[in-house]
Amino acid sequence: MRSNTLYLVVPCYNEEEVLHKTAEVLSDKLLRLIAAGKASPKSRILFVNDGSKDKTWKIIYELTRKNEIFAGLSFSRNYGHQSAILAGMMAAREKADAVVTVDADLQQDIEALDQFLDCYQKGCEIVYGVRNDRDTDGFFKKMTAGAFYRLMHLLGCRTITNHADYRLMSKKALNALAEFKETNLFLRGLIPTMGFASDIVYFDVKEREAGQSKYTLKKMLTLAVDGITSMSTRPLQLIVVLGFLTFLFSICLFISCIVDWANGQVVAGWTTTVASTCLIGGMTLLSQGIIGEYIGKIYMESKGRPRYIVDSMILRDGGEEQTEVTDERTN
Ligand code: UDP
Ligand code: MG
Repeated sequence: MRSNTLYLVVPCYNEEEVLHKTAEVLSDKLLRLIAAGKASPKSRILFVNDGSKDKTWKIIYELTRKNEIFAGLSFSRNYGHQSAILAGMMAAREKADAVVTVDADLQQDIEALDQFLDCYQKGCEIVYGVRNDRDTDGFFKKMTAGAFYRLMHLLGCRTITNHADYRLMSKKALNALAEFKETNLFLRGLIPTMGFASDIVYFDVKEREAGQSKYTLKKMLTLAVDGITSMSTRPLQLIVVLGFLTFLFSICLFISCIVDWANGQVVAGWTTTVASTCLIGGMTLLSQGIIGEYIGKIYMESKGRPRYIVDSMILRDGGEEQTEVTDERTN
């Protein structure tokens, strides 16, 4: 049997409404896993406070006082969901044999943990949680998510459809993940490229226990653009194709103009002129925008700034408390 100290990493952004309930449900589940011998008594629940503006960190702090099964990590500001789960996984990796990342809102069925651990015991280094359906999502989320996965596949990214970030990773997989130093982080796309023995566990999605979704449209768009630009350079290749087609079109137009001129027909084609200017102008701007997006990403990567800054960390491990102020750098 593989050693099984399990850390649940829970990203939290303004989750004061749901956090007490989450702590209760998760600790109940973890204690049952410990009692069944599926997880070691050293297992923990690590809440990552992603720069919340409400009482989230206060609640996490109080939870760690009451029960040493809870641990907490707090960012200096809001860095986003991807950074929060990365920080949690990196903080847990030394102590844990396996880490499961799970949302704070209890939407992901926590009972699936048994299957996650079974797969881990069978030798999987990564276990992906995939949602059975999207019935609990609104029409807009369903459509945008569907379009996003289709686009990712079209652009050649190996994302797992309907897998969000509910996933188990073993210590070995986490150590491999730590080698990836990129600032532009899209874990859902990155982790499947790592290889390793892996499996999929299907789970049901529930309604959010309390509070509103913390993924605003802006955050979703940023994630989508980050996902595409971090995983694929195909948009740049498409620009080359577009440029080539435009070039062919211009040559045809040029030849037609010469023929018209030779025939003595002076073209009164104002509409054609304006339309083609607008078309070419629009395509040029779009292409420049896409290239600019990549250059921006290169610029940010070249700076090698920290992906997140940890303000404080509380982890009680067998009586002795560790409270640290650390700064996790990319390089
Ligand atoms: N979250 C985060 N930082 C953010 C936004 C969200 O840590 O900037 C967390 C949030 O607290 C939750 C998880 O990411 O635990 C998923 O967010 P949410 O449930 O709001 O997204 P949805 O399920 O609506 O896609
Ligand atoms: Mg949610």
